[in-house]
Amino acid sequence: MTNPAGSATDLHPIRTKPLPGVGDAAGRRLGAEEIAALTRVISSGQLNSTVGNETRTFEAAFADYYDIPYAVTATSGTAAIHLAVAAVDPEPGDEIITTGLSDAGTVLPILAQNAIPVFADVDPRTGNLDPDAVQAKITDRTRAIIAVHLFGIPAPVAELRAIADRHGIVLIEDCAQAYLTRTAEGALAGTVGQLGCFSLQQSKHITAGDGGIVISADEALARRARLFADKGWPRDTGERTHLFLGLNYRMTELQAAVAGAQLGKLAGVVADRRRQAIRLTETVDALPGLSAAPVDGNSYWQFPIYLDPEQAGGDAAEYAAVLRQLGIGTNPGYLDRPLYRTPALADAITYGSSGYPLTAVDHRPDYSVGSCPQTEELINHRLLVVMWNENYTDADVDDLALALRTASDLLAR
Ligand SMILES: *Cc1c(COP(=O)(O)O)cnc(C)c1O
Repeated sequence: MTNPAGSATDLHPIRTKPLPGVGDAAGRRLGAEEIAALTRVISSGQLNSTVGNETRTFEAAFADYYDIPYAVTATSGTAAIHLAVAAVDPEPGDEIITTGLSDAGTVLPILAQNAIPVFADVDPRTGNLDPDAVQAKITDRTRAIIAVHLFGIPAPVAELRAIADRHGIVLIEDCAQAYLTRTAEGALAGTVGQLGCFSLQQSKHITAGDGGIVISADEALARRARLFADKGWPRDTGERTHLFLGLNYRMTELQAAVAGAQLGKLAGVVADRRRQAIRLTETVDALPGLSAAPVDGNSYWQFPIYLDPEQAGGDAAEYAAVLRQLGIGTNPGYLDRPLYRTPALADAITYGSSGYPLTAVDHRPDYSVGSCPQTEELINHRLLVVMWNENYTDADVDDLALALRTASDLLAR
């Protein structure tokens, strides 16, 4: 393909200094509060949540923040999803409907719990699950839906909850990318489904390195999640017994103390991400063939751009190549392949050579190329992810805007 911007000599970088990123101090709000919290825990000599009270205090603070009765912590966002799936307690071979456009942490716990991930296609305007596609995948084996609020964009969880209620199944919201995201109805993402899951991994809005949280208004589900994270051990009864198969997914006091300090900064992080994202949205929406994500309720984990390659004069990879020459790194497609094409799923690389649970069911779902066309179009051509950060200055966002205009001028002719 002949690309007018293809040769490096044509273009001079707009940006030579790296943008603040989540991988180091420049793009994280970690400071005196977190250090004080860690000093407090270490001085106490109590690093484990079964002896200290930092973790229980953080859970109470998080539940309060979300105005919901229960919060249960875990070691990671993936662990939080595993707690939620285990709380639902599917029979082996039961189906859970989800998206192929997410972190693998959304899907791997389904397999770990011996249930079958079934993939529904996404809305091409956002990358979030399409409720009609979900409805079409429901069978008498479906036990739950896991919706992801991708990049912080509110997923249509009111519609998905209505579908779940109609079929007597559970809606789990994966909010790893969506702290303080608001749904179209004004609810906080994570409070519409029976279970909401969050991550404290390095790249999320707030971090403790790793960590996870499950919220729920349902006492029985919350209790099952808590027991699952602690070997099925009902410590509140004083017995050393194990009520069902559980693991150790307990958050440490060190993580909880840092997470508590981070929670105090969350509203500011989201407000700053939103303010700058709204500025860039105006630029992007004015360029031919490019559109930004909806602003309403969006907490902007990342800043996705959706391309119409014909009008834009190039697909996401071509835009990314030009932007790289201009000194701006982006992530075309977000994933290399949809989750159903990753070996754990496509080739059933699970337990030994058994392929369980995928090989143990009569109706193994379709994980073939082409099974979710909108998901694949986004990954292969239409989705360009601009990394986002709460510490972007006006000048940083002006550089991004100029780079995108320059790329559009070169490609869209
Ligand atoms: C990060 C992420 C996870 C997994 O969280 P970890 O803390 O990395 O295990 C799950 N789902 C989504 C949508 C994520 O972005």
